[in-house]
Parts: sequence; structure tokens; C-alpha cells
Amino acid sequence: MIKETARFSGTVLYDVLKTIEQLYSDIETDQKVWKEKAPVGCPDGCGKCCMHFEPEIYEAEALYLAAWMLENQKERADHIAELGEAAFTHRDICSRNDEGGSDECYEDGCVLFDPKTPYHCTVYGGRCLICRLFGFSGDHGKDGYIRWKPCRHMQPLNSVADAAAELSGMQAVQAGHQYGQDEMMCLFGAVPPFMGAASSRLLALNPDDTHPQPLRTALPAAIRKLKMLLHFLTPPEPDCPSPHPLSA
Ligand code: SF4
Ligand code: SF4
Repeated sequence: MIKETARFSGTVLYDVLKTIEQLYSDIETDQKVWKEKAPVGCPDGCGKCCMHFEPEIYEAEALYLAAWMLENQKERADHIAELGEAAFTHRDICSRNDEGGSDECYEDGCVLFDPKTPYHCTVYGGRCLICRLFGFSGDHGKDGYIRWKPCRHMQPLNSVADAAAELSGMQAVQAGHQYGQDEMMCLFGAVPPFMGAASSRLLALNPDDTHPQPLRTALPAAIRKLKMLLHFLTPPEPDCPSPHPLSA
């Protein structure tokens, strides 16, 4: 149990947060094997997948992200809860670039992306499901077997790519090529986790929640919900804190 979820122990939402926590932990375990074997990886400081993409997320993902922010970025979480979508203004997204003289803006990108920090995602520990799966998971083809297509911005990891090229006679791992299950097992000795299984586990948490919302909409609502819950969980301050009662 991590502290982000522990404070909600005993509530209905605690089960949701714990299940998401377990799902994310399982994805990390599965991806560890794949990342060791995969022929390509993300270049340092890339983040291009977040620059013009804002995730649409289910409430359970939003609640986990909200719990993570309330634990790790309380002031920011309070600000988002208070202002709602207005907390993510065009100015907010662009102003960080202006300091460096660049006028690049990412108004169509993720509102939690920061181009000026080395790893760009400002909520890495609480990020959503697609952020954890993108690039490092596969889908199923018509034959029911797993397949995988590298992100076009990935770069070869030399030792693995060279070994793969040696095995197959390829000159290099091909960007844009879709790898089949047998091909991956032959070349790399592993396959990535199946994206559909992770999504099914998420959807099973609340089958009625069929409409994912843009992150900028879902996150403020989730933070408000958790803050309300914390309000009822926190014992009230005593009316008379004086250690010397008047009647003594
Ligand atoms: S998944 Fe692709 S776009 Fe995203 S950080 Fe990795 S290489 Fe860059
Ligand atoms: S939450 Fe983080 S990883 Fe996900 S899209 Fe936004 S910046 Fe990218």
C-alpha cells in the first residue's frame, strides 16, 4: 500500500484506488521484462507523445491521479480543484516556454506536460493508463496473437538491436514495421504486455463509467471528490483548544 491510497482506507473509493494501484504495478512488472528485451526505446527527454495529445480518462484513473497530487502536489491540486478547467489556461501552457525565448505552445497537448523539465510529465507517479502503455504495449491482430509497432520517435538500443539484426539478417530494427508475436519471440525473446487486458481491468472497475473525459475535465472533478471525502475523514478541531478550562 502506498501513502497516496492509504489515507482513504475504509472508504468505498479506497477499493478503486487500490485496484488501480495494483493494475499499474502489474503493468510495470510486465514492461520491465519487455524493456530489457525491446530493440528500441525512448530518446532522453523526448516526450513528443504528450505535446499534442491530451488523454481522455475514466473516473478511476482521474481519482488515482487526484490522490497522487493531493499527496505530492497539494497546493497545485487545491488550485485545480478551485479553478476547474480554468486552471489550465493557454497562458499557463505557453508561459513556461516564454522564459527561454521560445514561443512554442502546446495548447492542444496534455495540460500536465512541462516542456522545460527533463522528463516533461509533471505527474509521473500518478499518470494515466494510456501514458503507461503507449509505446510499450501491443494489441491483438485478427489471428488473436499479440503484435507491436514501435513509436516512430523511438531509437534503437544498440546492443539489443545489433543482436536482433544479426539474428534476422536485418540491417536495423525497422521503424513503422508491425511485429507479429512469432517474429518478436524469434528476434527478441519476449513480447510486450497486451494493452486490451489492462483496459479491461480498468473498465471492470465501474462498467457504468462508459464515457471517458478529457484530463482537464476529469481531474478537477476527481480532486474535488477526494477533498470532500477527506473533509469527512478528518476529525474536526476541538471548539475550545485551551488546556486550562475556565471551571478549574
Ligand atoms: S513513446 Fe515515442 S514520442 Fe513518447 S517519449 Fe517515447 S519515443 Fe518519444
Ligand atoms: S499525464 Fe504525463 S505522461 Fe500522460 S499525457 Fe500528460 S504529460 Fe504525458
